[in-house]
Amino acid sequence: MIVFNVPPYAGKELDYMQEAIAGRKICGDGPFTKKCNQWIEEKTGTTKALLTTSCTQALELAAILTDIQPGDEVILPSFTFVSTANAFVLRGAKLVFVDIRPDTKNIDETLIEDAITDKTKAIVPVHYAGVGCEMDTILDIARRHDLIVVEDAAQGVMSTYKGRALGSMGDYGCFSFHETKNYSMGEGGAILIKDSEKAEEAEVIREKGTDRSRFLRGQVDKYSWVTMGSSYLPSDMNAAYLYAQLERADEINCDRLASWNRYYKGLKPLEEKGLLQLPVIPQECEHNAHMFYIVTKDLEERTKLISYLKENEINAVFHYVPLHSAKAGLKYGRFHGEDKYTTKVAESLLRLPMYYGLKEEEVDYICQKINEFYGV
Ligand SMILES: *Cc1c(COP(=O)(O)O)cnc(C)c1O
Repeated sequence: MIVFNVPPYAGKELDYMQEAIAGRKICGDGPFTKKCNQWIEEKTGTTKALLTTSCTQALELAAILTDIQPGDEVILPSFTFVSTANAFVLRGAKLVFVDIRPDTKNIDETLIEDAITDKTKAIVPVHYAGVGCEMDTILDIARRHDLIVVEDAAQGVMSTYKGRALGSMGDYGCFSFHETKNYSMGEGGAILIKDSEKAEEAEVIREKGTDRSRFLRGQVDKYSWVTMGSSYLPSDMNAAYLYAQLERADEINCDRLASWNRYYKGLKPLEEKGLLQLPVIPQECEHNAHMFYIVTKDLEERTKLISYLKENEINAVFHYVPLHSAKAGLKYGRFHGEDKYTTKVAESLLRLPMYYGLKEEEVDYICQKINEFYGV
């Protein structure tokens, strides 16, 4: 069976975990957490990066920093993971879903401005498949309407838009290091913060609302409770696991891109015949091969193709069920404008096996079986 995902493993994970254990410092913000934070800051150019226990929690932290009040509105795509929405719902926000672009499956930036009301507080672009949203337009809208931008860059580690790292362009960016993502610590994530004052606020909220970080740096002589907060720090053992992969990020990225490009080449003839659609990478984006997907004609064809691939020992999976039509989505949000692509894409998109270490023969075999399915 060719499985859909194999969590990344770069080789030195156990050594680094052992080092963390030997240091008897496995709580949060130990040496490996600091190395990971620094790696992210250097790689993305963000002002401050802080590891969190997940991208879900990074998004929740971003929603607190955005100072969402009950009744505030947040604009986001419906074609995303529940965490993008939950973070803001937990703060009492009303969700305003807008449609996606048919090419990148990212939020359609041309529809955002029409969805803005006097209650709108934030825009949350999601970089689907690690391919950047049209950020210049989104940042311009946010500036003109005085809105906060929170990038859900869960899938976008190592991707860029016009040379800028995904997650580093908005006020806040959120990464995921879940085991289904390109770099993993089992469960984990990071928040990227642009403004240095907000970075200090984030440190406090992340440390149970205390100024412990300032205390450890010797900036205050005792630490105390200064604001509402929670605990978003992962164990340094998990950070050690992650660091082994970050160190070899270029190699992992290259390997994934090679598989992605091989899929693209192997399936291009089917697209040329009009049988399916392949991903579109805009000129200004460099992606990280987080995902390789195809778009079939409709739900029925996709269901048949999933079964056909399964019979041939290939595990391919569909993705999001649109949030706006889910039970909680109906309760907490509304869809602004027409759902031209969200539901249609959700019903016809199919993700193929993609992970660090996927073999060329495996990609070729999968392409061959898909060609066979279409009678080519
Ligand atoms: C994976 C993912 C998340 C959640 O990440 P966790 O680290 O599992 O909390 C959020 N948003 C998107 C778009 C994701 O793909």
